[in-house]
Amino acid sequence: MRVLLVEDDEPIAESLTRGLSRYGFEVTWVRTGAEALVAGDFSMVLVDLGLPDVDGLDVCRELRARGDVPIIVISARSDEVDRVVGLEIGADDYVTKPFGVREVVARMRAVLRRVQPARKEPEAAHGRVRIDRRGRRVHLDGGEVELTPKEFDLLAFLAEDPGAVFTREQIMEAVWDAHWFGPTKTLDVHVGVLRRKLGDAASLETVRGVGFRLVLT
Ligand code: CA
Repeated sequence: MRVLLVEDDEPIAESLTRGLSRYGFEVTWVRTGAEALVAGDFSMVLVDLGLPDVDGLDVCRELRARGDVPIIVISARSDEVDRVVGLEIGADDYVTKPFGVREVVARMRAVLRRVQPARKEPEAAHGRVRIDRRGRRVHLDGGEVELTPKEFDLLAFLAEDPGAVFTREQIMEAVWDAHWFGPTKTLDVHVGVLRRKLGDAASLETVRGVGFRLVLT
């Protein structure tokens, strides 16, 4: 998933870019509001409020005027007023520095879960499989598929970008929320179960030496 990071603080931007890429996000980093507004289309935007050229809130306002891209404000200001203003002008969430990458990822996922049902065609993208992220339920040809929480998380994660290859490490970090250096047998077991439960409505393809991709038919 393509993410635009608007942040002038280099150490923060670098560590966030590195951290988010470990979670499978493809980050484009710009330092100014002016660059942000000509950067093109992204699936999500993270905006620092203290930018060298313009106020980050103005960047949010402009992005919101143009469309419904999810926006998370990142700021050194812990001021409640900024938070409220940020949310009022259309930001979807807010994180205050200092923050950990994991916290940012959690916010990003929460925002995506909130916005996806409203902003995406609910069924078109997924063919016969319908994933209700808010209700954490999955339907196949209209009937509910019983999934364990981890099976659901795995399917929901892969379905964030159908057709894209996710590495084992990305999946383990995202779904099991752990830095993972050991064997990933648990992952294979869950993939096997999902294959069985989804049948020919979805194919979880093994990409040798890399990871998995989900193709929904
Ligand atoms: Ca700044």
